[in-house]
Formats: sequence, structure tokens, C-alpha cells
Amino acid sequence: MFDKFHDECGVFGVLGRQDAANLVYLGLYALQHRGQESAGIASVTEDGRIVSEKEMGYVADVFTPARLARLPGDTAIGHVRYSTAGGSMLCNAQPIVAFTSKGPIAVAHNGNLINGGELRSQLEAEGAIFNSTADSEVIVHLIARSKKPDLESAFLDALSQLQGAYAMALLAPGRIFAARDPYGFRPLVLGRLEDAFTVSSETCAFDLISAETVREVGAGEVLVIERPEGTPIVRVIREGTAPREARCIFEHVYFARPDSVVFGNSVAATRQKFGAQLAKEHPIDPQNAIVVPVPDSGVFAALGYSLESGIPFQYGLVRNHYVGRTFIEPKQAIRSFGVKVKLNPVQHLVKGKRVILIDDSIVRGTTSKKIVRMLKDAGAAEVHMRISSPPTSWPCYYGIDTPERTQLIGATHTLEEIRTFIEADSLGYLSEDGMLEAVRNDDDPRELYCTACFTGKYPVTMDKSASLHSA
Ligand code: AMP
Repeated sequence: MFDKFHDECGVFGVLGRQDAANLVYLGLYALQHRGQESAGIASVTEDGRIVSEKEMGYVADVFTPARLARLPGDTAIGHVRYSTAGGSMLCNAQPIVAFTSKGPIAVAHNGNLINGGELRSQLEAEGAIFNSTADSEVIVHLIARSKKPDLESAFLDALSQLQGAYAMALLAPGRIFAARDPYGFRPLVLGRLEDAFTVSSETCAFDLISAETVREVGAGEVLVIERPEGTPIVRVIREGTAPREARCIFEHVYFARPDSVVFGNSVAATRQKFGAQLAKEHPIDPQNAIVVPVPDSGVFAALGYSLESGIPFQYGLVRNHYVGRTFIEPKQAIRSFGVKVKLNPVQHLVKGKRVILIDDSIVRGTTSKKIVRMLKDAGAAEVHMRISSPPTSWPCYYGIDTPERTQLIGATHTLEEIRTFIEADSLGYLSEDGMLEAVRNDDDPRELYCTACFTGKYPVTMDKSASLHSA
């Protein structure tokens, strides 16, 4: 069975520190928001073996001291993963460890391979046995079967057959390879901790272990961290060859942590710009108004809206932090009750107020509907919903979990229908131009970002199974 088109993940790796698995554990802790279903670490022992520990659950629960003690060595990679129902199994947890003619390897992959289904079918037809339903497993098969003489060239050979999104770390004795697909959909950064090098999906993980950010791994770039003369060095083995970059704008909208720098921009500052622009595009009469974020996803955009409009920011909804993200729970039963368990309005702040409610996105519409209702029940006079991105109208095939089109309210309903459905007094979305301007540096963001979930402009065409998914 091959069922994966959504795969939200975080990747982390360290080479050159005795406590590598401990640092990876901390790195994964900081990347927990990128996937809460399973966590895993693989490390290289002194005698060159690869050992791994993976389990369903949160990083803090999976990695007991006893487990970490079973991951010795100064070279390790790790992975956190979330997948949709069907893919939620221990066999799909990463890193994927394999023993090949090029030596033992472990792979941690973030993103979706749009030709993953096709490659898997070909490999299966040739007799390959798969241990998981995840598309990432094709990577180790392609490496193992490559006719190239060594791991480095076999890895490049394998990568050349992949289409779609990958930000990945490949562990081998004495080496960690880091690779991003030519479009650079998903982020990956290189960091340094004294003599050691580290790679991470996001910079917030570097902050936790006091590593400094060296630079992004470029779109299409493949590098290897190795120790030819003892001290770790970084060597580029494939230069970026982007036909055009297609960085995921949704990392800035929702997915990345606000304290990260992603694709060269601070996520927090970008979200504030989204909010400020939203205030310009969809203003509200400030009389008796307050700006209230949906925590945590709307906080920085709400700050931006408040600062731009001069309307006070109020923490009118309090979140219970001990509940996982509602959306991230794959089962529908949990999802619908999750909103209530997660958020509670502060009556004293919202009563009688014209509430400008800010969130980052509306997917199915159920969250917004419940929150609007909650605020009205708490006595809000009016609720004006403002969304810091355009309507989510198209599924993602590059690693963000968006449902198929039929379930996306932005694809199936007009603005006025959505407003009526969520029972808001008004509704305004940030424009595509407004969103992209917030990430403008020197070059035109239209040439650099993937906005497919909002615009339907897919930078890479999908294979047959994937396009069926969008029907
Ligand atoms: P919905 O109830 O389906 O409209 O979900 C909207 C909520 O889901 C918003 O509060 C978003 O912050 C959040 N959200 C949007 N995309 C994702 C995603 N890929 N993973 C988890 N949560 C998301």
C-alpha cells in the first residue's frame, strides 16, 4: 500500500560531539511542532555500526535516559514525524536504517516525493521488499541498488531520480549528508557548535543547543559533513541547480516556529508584516474594538494588526497547552472536540467588544466556526474574522498536510458563504500580493516561493496517483 501524500516532519543531525544523540534529542525537542506522531534517533557507534531508537509519541516521552544511553557516538541524526491516518504506524517512523553494499545508512526525510508511488511500484516489480508505507523508504532502496561505486555517488544517483520535496539527512559512519530538492520546498539549515556541525529543519533548534547558524543548505544543494583529517568540515557535493526556487510560503504562514529564521526571514517578523498588511487591506472601525489572536497560530499576525491599526491587542482566548494541536490529531473524533478542550475565551476581556479575531488560515472552517461561537457566547458584541493568508484552496503535495479540495472550505465556498458558515460579522483574507510582499528581500518573491495551496500554481506536476488525490 502506498498512501502518503502528506508528511510533516522535522530533521536534525550532529557530527563531531561525543553527546551527539543528546544534542539531537534537544534539537528534536525544539522541532516537535513539525511532527508529533513519532520520534527517532540513529547514531554511529565507535565500531562503525548504526543503532537506532524510534517510537510513536512525543520526543520527551520516547527518549528516556535508558534509550538515549543506547545511542552512543559523536554522529547522529533524528526525525519527528506526523502523517495522516493510514500512515500512522511505527513502521513509518524515521530515521530509516538500512544495510547496503555501500555500508550501513540511516535516512531522515522531510517532504513528499511526488513520484514516490511510481518509484515504489517499479522497485516492487523488481522484487524489492518494503518495510513501511512511507515514500521516504524508496530513497534507501535507490541508494542500495545504485550501480555507482560508493555511497556519495550512489546518494547523488538516488537523488537524481526523485521528484518533489525533500530536505534530508543521510547518516553513514563518519559522515552526514544533507540535501535539499532543486526547488527548495522545505527548509534545511547548517549550524556550527564549536568544532561540530549540525543540520536542522529550523534555526530554533540551534538556539536551544547554542549552535550558530552558518547558512541555509541551498535549494538543490547536497553537502557532506565529514572528518578527513579529524576536524569536521563541510564539502559541497552538488551545487544548487534550481530551475526556479519554490520555497513553501506556508512555513511562514503557519508551520515553522516563530523564533526561527526560515528561507532567510524571521518567521515572527514575517507574521507581524502579514498582520500589518491585513490591517491595511481589511480595516475595522476602531471604536470599542480589540484585536484577539487565535493562540498560538494567530499571535504574531494579531500583534502586527494591532500595531498597524492602533487597536489594542488583547489575549482574549487562552489556550490549554497540554493538548496537542487539534489538526495534528488524525482521528476526526478527536479533532472536533479538540477546539473546546484547547481554547477558552476570557469573558472579562471580550464582553461587549468588537472583536477582531486573527488566525493564520481556515482549512475546513470548523475551528473558526467554533471560536466565533465561543466568543459570542462569552459576550462579544461582534466578531470580525481576519486571516493572515489567502483562502486555502488547493492541497499540498510537497509535505504540508492539507486535505483534498472537496474538504477545503476556501475551494468550495465563496467568501460570503464562508462568512455565513463561521457566523462572523465580517471576514477578510490577506491577499496573495500582500502575503508575498512580506517575504520580499532582494529578489521577486513570486519567483522564489510556492503558493500552490492558495493559488493552485504547482511548481512540479504530479504523478497520476497524486492528481487523483486533488480531484
Ligand atoms: P480548520 O478547522 O480545518 O479550518 O483548521 C484551521 C486551523 O488549523 C487553523 O487554526 C490553523 O492554524 C490550523 N492549521 C492549518 N493548517 C494546518 C496544518 N497543516 N497542520 C496543523 N494545523 C493547521
